[in-house]
Amino acid sequence: MKSNPDIKKVVRQHAEMAEFFSGGLTVKKLTAEHAENAETRSEATSPLRKNLEITSADSAVSAVKKTRPPASPETIKELEVIAEQTRKCRKCELGSSRKNAVPGEGNTSARIMFVGEAPGADEDEQARPFVGRSGQLLDKIIAACGLKRQDVYIGNVIKCRPPDNRDPKPEEIIACIPYLQRQIELINPEIIVALGAHAAKTLLDTPKAIGQLRGMFHDYVPGIGHKPIKLMPTFHPAYLLRNYSDDNRRKVWEDMKKVMAELGLPIPQRTGG
Ligand code: URA
Repeated sequence: MKSNPDIKKVVRQHAEMAEFFSGGLTVKKLTAEHAENAETRSEATSPLRKNLEITSADSAVSAVKKTRPPASPETIKELEVIAEQTRKCRKCELGSSRKNAVPGEGNTSARIMFVGEAPGADEDEQARPFVGRSGQLLDKIIAACGLKRQDVYIGNVIKCRPPDNRDPKPEEIIACIPYLQRQIELINPEIIVALGAHAAKTLLDTPKAIGQLRGMFHDYVPGIGHKPIKLMPTFHPAYLLRNYSDDNRRKVWEDMKKVMAELGLPIPQRTGG
């Protein structure tokens, strides 16, 4: 039978998704008890591994690339200017404690933009967002959607690491948020995925808990006269690592499936029990 390269690609996507669900990389770094449970699940016993089926043979990656023209040279230039401004920024005390600012990175014409809270130690060291343990899990979530890191844009509410990974202070968010707001305006993604409470509450300007916000689309309004951008809040990867349950990972996957559906991307589907 003639093999279809797109199907092979999507099969790979669902293998990634199964790995995401069953633990894979993240398990190794968790407690022995977690690891034992998760490894048992990830063996042939996992119904997810067995029963996934592909609904479309179209490649998610090419679907992403097909529908958005590249960012203009002016947009790219302004994003570089913002990055440079963050590197020089001293608007709050984090400007003097950071090693490196972490302006954000990725596809400047991305359809999806992931927004986290603030850089941690690894990000501060490398000047890149989500490169530590949370980043490895985020990479898995992105791969589970059939995408690559370079297909999306990844940023943070706060561009500099809060010491000892403490929560960002309100005045730090107020000082830093214009950078992210402008990045969103310039990239103009079709969907923002807000990772965790800080990103969701800040972008939606709401005191509601992440548990109340996640699972449905909200409108992020970039500014007066701008069309709202759909925003999906979901759990932060660091929260998932700390609360490593099937239920929490499934909730994130449900959120990401809504994002894929909204973008018309092929969704690996479970069939049967
Ligand atoms: N957590 C975040 O919120 N952002 C990062 O870049 C890394 C970890």
